Amino acid sequence: MGDIQGFLRYGREPKNKQAASQRLQHFKEFVEPWNEQQYHEQAARCMDCGVPFCHQGCPLGNKIPDFNDAVYRGQWKEAWEVLKSTNNFPEFTGRICPAPCEASCVLGLNNAAVNIEHIELEIAERAFQEGWEHAIVPSDDTGYRVAVVGSGPAGLAAAEELRKQGHSVTVFERDEAPGGLLRLGIPDFKLDKTVIDRRIELMQRAGIDFCCDTEIGNDISVTELEERFDAIVLCVGATVPRDLPIPGRSLSGVHFAMDFLSHQNRLISGKVDRISSELNAKNKKVLVIGGGDTGADCVGTSNRQGALCVTQIELMEKPPEERTVTNPWPEWPMTLKTSSSHEEGVARDWSVLTKRFIGEDGKLTGVETIRIRWTDKAKFRYEEIPGSEEVIECDLAFLAIGFAHHEKSLSTLFGLELDPNRNVKTTGFKALKKTGETSRSMIFAAGDCRRGQSLVVWAIAEGRRAAMAVNNSLEKAALQA
Ligand SMILES: Cc1cc2nc3c(=O)[nH]c(=O)nc-3n(C[C@H](O)[C@H](O)[C@H](O)COP(=O)(O)OP(=O)(O)OC[C@H]3O[C@@H](n4cnc5c(N)ncnc54)[C@H](O)[C@@H]3O)c2cc1C
Ligand code: SF4
Repeated sequence: MGDIQGFLRYGREPKNKQAASQRLQHFKEFVEPWNEQQYHEQAARCMDCGVPFCHQGCPLGNKIPDFNDAVYRGQWKEAWEVLKSTNNFPEFTGRICPAPCEASCVLGLNNAAVNIEHIELEIAERAFQEGWEHAIVPSDDTGYRVAVVGSGPAGLAAAEELRKQGHSVTVFERDEAPGGLLRLGIPDFKLDKTVIDRRIELMQRAGIDFCCDTEIGNDISVTELEERFDAIVLCVGATVPRDLPIPGRSLSGVHFAMDFLSHQNRLISGKVDRISSELNAKNKKVLVIGGGDTGADCVGTSNRQGALCVTQIELMEKPPEERTVTNPWPEWPMTLKTSSSHEEGVARDWSVLTKRFIGEDGKLTGVETIRIRWTDKAKFRYEEIPGSEEVIECDLAFLAIGFAHHEKSLSTLFGLELDPNRNVKTTGFKALKKTGETSRSMIFAAGDCRRGQSLVVWAIAEGRRAAMAVNNSLEKAALQA
């Protein structure tokens, strides 16, 4: 800890964001770095706590006080070495992580938390600029072949860790390019896709093979995969969206959020050459159903496309602005979140139930809603408030109400057991927090397909643990041979 009074001397610096009116003109990232002095001061706010709760908050166990201290001393390379030791892709988490570490930062007890995520991003960017981050080609080849199915953050982390151990690694991806939801779900204004390309290039140079446009279970059978590889890691995500089977669902203009977001991302990357009129919000009234992050991404994308107006509704009640006594630090704060997309313009409403989609000539014109009163949130019980019916006029409605589970066709083909939430069940190892082997030997699972819809940071953490589990099993097999 460099400055023992840093947390008293300096306040939390906000991010340097382009003004909303400016950033709405484009789909590029809009957060600029601070200057050197600002990083020095923000890192000085870290108290190097005896019990650093940020560790407990971070699923990767990032050594946060250590890299904060190195940044305070201007030792950026040292900071990078500390950061990279626990996080394969800080260039992703530094941009898009909701930062559970900051939610549990001890300073957050009576002050604003340390700006951990933004410091992390700068460390990662400097590492790429300075060439400290480079491809690591293992000196020995174990001769084992491992297939990773799915190239989201879980698959990428597993692949990188497995390659470091000297295994021959092939990543299979059914989409046209690697990245999973990083590439096709998360908008470019939050994560520029060149950031993913830069990482994939390093992984390829380290010797990892990427087979895109290849669906396991369709283009390559599971039998063939099992014959060709010694171990398989399934990182196929939880891609089945929750639907809203109410009257009018089939009207044109009602879409899953992911159809809208992936289309825009493909448009930017040049994979589709023109915007589909069905998925174009320009001059349209947009309703986003679902108040979470995916919904916020639809808000930001609709506004950039030139929507006339955007409304976002949510079934749950409006969260409080501050923590309540039943939600104290260091728990994840169940408070109102205002994302950068919300800052750009949206009408938000809570405790609203969607009753039916209304249309004319097969086209959506509005959505009928009714207000609700929650009677028992724990048991998901609510009652409708009579007389509160309303029609929200809209030409486009996006369903952003979460994802149910993974696509079960693949786990069925492999004959895997599922858990009660329809995720792939893993027996695992206690120390690895149950991220390990599935019900079949030498088949492993990690990320959203194992834990359900979650976060990039969790996917990376699970990919790392699955790789460790694979490695342990291969080592055991080698000893027994
Ligand atoms: C719109 C949106 C925005 C989000 N924003 C954030 C955010 O800001 N911050 C955050 O932390 N989290 C965010 N998330 C959540 C985060 O993206 C996921 O938790 C994370 O990507 C899960 O990683 P994964 O590797 O398990 O799966 P995924 O990223 O879903 O990747 C799974 C991959 O497997 C491939 N696949 C599936 N089946 C097969 C098959 N049979 N053969 C070959 N390939 C296959 C899929 O094509 C896909 O590429 C967001 C999610 C969405 C939908
Ligand atoms: S909890 Fe906050 S103040 Fe304490 S070590 Fe971690 S980042 Fe620093």
